[in-house]
Amino acid sequence: MASKERILVIDDEEVIRDSCTQALAKVGHVVKSAENADKGLELLKSFDPGIVLVDLKMPGKSGIEVLEEIQAIDPNIIKIVITGFATVSSAIDAMKKGAYDFIPKPFTPEEIRVIVARGLERRQLLLESEALRLEQEKTRKNMISLVSHEFRAPLAATIQYLEVILGGMAGDISSEAKEMIERCDIRLREMLELLGRWISLAIFDADKLSENFKDINLKDLASESIDVLKSMAEEKNVSLILDSPEDLPTIKGNKVSIGEVFNNLISNGIKYNNEGGWVKISLSEADDYISVKISDNGMGIDNEHLSKIFDEFYRVDGRRNAPVKGSGLGLSIVKKMVNAHGGTIDVESEIGKGSVFKIDFPKTFEPENSDKKEEDR
Ligand code: ADP
Repeated sequence: MASKERILVIDDEEVIRDSCTQALAKVGHVVKSAENADKGLELLKSFDPGIVLVDLKMPGKSGIEVLEEIQAIDPNIIKIVITGFATVSSAIDAMKKGAYDFIPKPFTPEEIRVIVARGLERRQLLLESEALRLEQEKTRKNMISLVSHEFRAPLAATIQYLEVILGGMAGDISSEAKEMIERCDIRLREMLELLGRWISLAIFDADKLSENFKDINLKDLASESIDVLKSMAEEKNVSLILDSPEDLPTIKGNKVSIGEVFNNLISNGIKYNNEGGWVKISLSEADDYISVKISDNGMGIDNEHLSKIFDEFYRVDGRRNAPVKGSGLGLSIVKKMVNAHGGTIDVESEIGKGSVFKIDFPKTFEPENSDKKEEDR
């Protein structure tokens, strides 16, 4: 075996602790042991082992509970269960709680060394894939920052120049040239908006978002979105209707991102609607959650597309959508933001009749910032 590892043995039987220590120390491992779960978990923090051998049956906290706790602390620690009653069901239970393998008592020094060697190979693989994941994450972040700085800035500067030319500040231009520059301006703005959406999706971090959760009044936010989108709705003669009780309880959330949820859903309701249509925002209170329904009587979505519309870059039927500008990113941003608030989103739709997007936001939601390690996996 090439590597030496720190190994922790948690077992109430002294003879087991001693025999594991001797067998494993003999091949170069550094072994520490504890006679119960609490001491073992305490030692885990300072000793930082790569492998833990845990007795399933101990007085006090059980081996299964210990497994769960270790899994929550660091899933890359290999957990091997020592058991005096190697039943299939106890082994399955242990595996479900994150154990890698189990060894029935009594065992020989060679048997424990073999099982630990296998565990070490597994740990090596886990650590390598973790390193790869971190490397990929770094590349992804570099890519985002490249796009963000190297593409967005010159694009914005170009638009600025075009505005100067269109404003006549750089001298007279022919009407043909003006028309072409106006088209360039529109295209570049669309590109800038698409980049902005892509970046906001790519850098989306639910933990960061929840750092500034505040009390949110959904009725106020919905009204703000309606104000922002009023002119877009008027252009298409679509009416925006808000239906909400006055005394709707607040929820805990991030104002900007819930605002974005409203903006995306209401603007879709307008974009994919017909002249003279309507978009209705209904808010109501249930036992544990606040329900938000954004419905419209627009073109609707075919059943075959419904399950995919929350995917990144997914747009329904190119021909149908052709006149409507979009990136296919809006709903994936919406879903991520709703989920980051502990909420759920569903859609029902009928072609030619309209769509209903229904969100349930829990009244109380505790973001699990402390579990970031686990979630990243
Ligand atoms: P985008 O609008 O930029 O294309 P979205 O992610 O917001 O992207 O929506 C994905 C697709 O779902 C849209 O292209 C559209 O075809 C469909 N869609 C979304 N909202 C509605 C709606 N209210 N009515 C009809 N179709 C919709």
